Amino acid sequence: MTETITRFAPSPTGRLHLGHAHAALFAHGAARQAGGRFILRIEDIDTGRCRPEFTDAILDDLAWLGLTWDGAVRRQSRHWDDYRAALDRLAAAGLLYPCFCSRKEIEAEIAAAGRAPHDGDGPLYPGTCRRMDPGRRAERLATGAAYALRLDSAAALARTGPLVWHDREQGKVAARPERFGDVVLARKDTPTSYHLAVTVDDALQGVTLVTRGRDLFAATDLHRLLQALLDLPVPDYHHHRLLTDSDGRRLAKRDRALTLGALRASGLAPAEVRAMAGWR
Ligand code: GLU
Repeated sequence: MTETITRFAPSPTGRLHLGHAHAALFAHGAARQAGGRFILRIEDIDTGRCRPEFTDAILDDLAWLGLTWDGAVRRQSRHWDDYRAALDRLAAAGLLYPCFCSRKEIEAEIAAAGRAPHDGDGPLYPGTCRRMDPGRRAERLATGAAYALRLDSAAALARTGPLVWHDREQGKVAARPERFGDVVLARKDTPTSYHLAVTVDDALQGVTLVTRGRDLFAATDLHRLLQALLDLPVPDYHHHRLLTDSDGRRLAKRDRALTLGALRASGLAPAEVRAMAGWR
């Protein structure tokens, strides 16, 4: 049987809160229970919002909670080449195109079309730059205009056919990556995206069980598509519950009183905070 490898992959955009503690303890517990390995990855590709001092605080908070991780901590911002290689491969397969659109231009195009397909989060990209005349595209590239790289989702799906993945609670799930449309895989300001980096890293780090909150359930459909396109192994998934505040709202950065920093400063012991995060 293969060894179970789980991971916790926070973004250092602030202090961890109880919801993060729940996720970290979940992943840690799943690995330890299976006699496997638990790894830690810092998802700091968004260099505008991530801060090294938050990375330090994350490591400190997790150690304070009593967590131990195996091997070196991977910091995504030190691995641009890995994401570049994945992009090159998708580009070589003809599955990417440069998108020069600004947010405003996309909104205007959608408004002009009357409506656009929706993914629940917002309207999908209307495909403006996918339809761009090749000569015009070459001209824009030659001017050095900034561009994002988008996945040609119809071409990608035609290549892979229907895909499934497995969730430990939901069982077999039929992937619907089309709900993301022509998703951005490299941003204008960052040479990758969350979706690409997380999929590449889970494979590179040998993660066999991805545990994370249910808010990322739909994202797994897209990650499954990227795995198929990049010939990556498919881990098992467990999307766990999200902690909520007394009004039933999911915990977020706004809940400052529930950061591990604030809870530690209030004099609580690690065992008490673990219990608040739903673990003994
Ligand atoms: N970095 C993501 C976050 O902090 C988590 C990614 C994942 O678990 O797949 O929300």
